Amino acid sequence: MKTEIYEIRCVDSEAAQNALARAGDILRRGGLVVFPTETVYGLGADATDATAASRIYTAKGRPSDNPLIVHVEAPEDAQKYAVTNEVYDRLATAFMPGPLTVIMPVKPTIPSTVTAGLSTVAVRCPSHPVARALLCAAGVPIAAPSANLSGSPSPTCARHVAEDMMGRVDMILDGGDSEIGLESTIVKIEEDGSLTLLRPGAVTPSMLMEIVPELHIADAVLAALPEGQTVLSPGMKYRHYAPKTTFILLDGTREQITAYAKKRKGKIGILCYKEDFDFFSTYFPADQCIIWGKREDTREQAKRLFTLLREMDKLSFDCIFAPLPPREEMGMALYNRMIRAAAHQIVHL
Ligand code: AMP
Ligand code: MG
Repeated sequence: MKTEIYEIRCVDSEAAQNALARAGDILRRGGLVVFPTETVYGLGADATDATAASRIYTAKGRPSDNPLIVHVEAPEDAQKYAVTNEVYDRLATAFMPGPLTVIMPVKPTIPSTVTAGLSTVAVRCPSHPVARALLCAAGVPIAAPSANLSGSPSPTCARHVAEDMMGRVDMILDGGDSEIGLESTIVKIEEDGSLTLLRPGAVTPSMLMEIVPELHIADAVLAALPEGQTVLSPGMKYRHYAPKTTFILLDGTREQITAYAKKRKGKIGILCYKEDFDFFSTYFPADQCIIWGKREDTREQAKRLFTLLREMDKLSFDCIFAPLPPREEMGMALYNRMIRAAAHQIVHL
């Protein structure tokens, strides 16, 4: 398949309008279009077309039991595809358009290919102008997971999409770097009106609790689940984001991290906070110390994480060590992605 790529920096230009009209056409005909969102790039198909949605699984090499997110142009469109309620309305008013996905009972308008046979559907209204313009041009809801090959880090720029998806999709819309860089927060609305957090993201626990005070955190968010335990969000059980290089999280001071890393044979990479670069580069060659971001700036770390995970593999390290992020707020989203990238290898020093 030939993949067309269009760069869109301003949705109002004539060239952008032409590209968006063409992308909308491709989607209505059952094709695949990759588009930028504020979280990561999405791999989209018409969410009402089972055949189109099944092409997403093929293009990504995605297991068929891992459902897709239905993207809508306006928060109120959710009621066409899901049984919404007053809790959804409050979440929508507070956070949509934006990086929040809500799980609700599915309506028959969405084929089971999209929900992987579950009785619920995930709905999100993105804020990125190109995603919004595409939803408008398509006139159909767009089912989309992240636009990476299954198992790789989610793409946060068109170059990363192209690495994984050239020849596998009809079109890639290049909208520059993703603002957030981690996938959306996913919450499930329970029957009693409480929320369960299935995947942490830029809409943080404290932000959610301002709207719905009762928030449960699903077990799989912060830990590896014991063999055989059912996960609430199928995506959480898969090995994820993992660089090919051995990646280990170290929970300790920079002195403890240095002492531990020095004992390891081979070429070591150290992912470090900006403030610690001078310290680590006195013990390791500077080109082996990779700056992740300022220690307190979890938003910057989030934005850079997936790019770093992709690029670390190109640096021919035998092993990469990284600090264990805090579990609070945006740190929880980082912690959740990092433990998966490290295949749950954490050393408490
Ligand atoms: P991705 O954005 O690529 O991570 O893919 C969508 C994510 O949404 C996956 O982690 C899915 O497991 C999750 N998801 C989609 N639909 C549902 C659902 N009905 N219930 C729970 N999780 C879901
Ligand atoms: Mg994904």
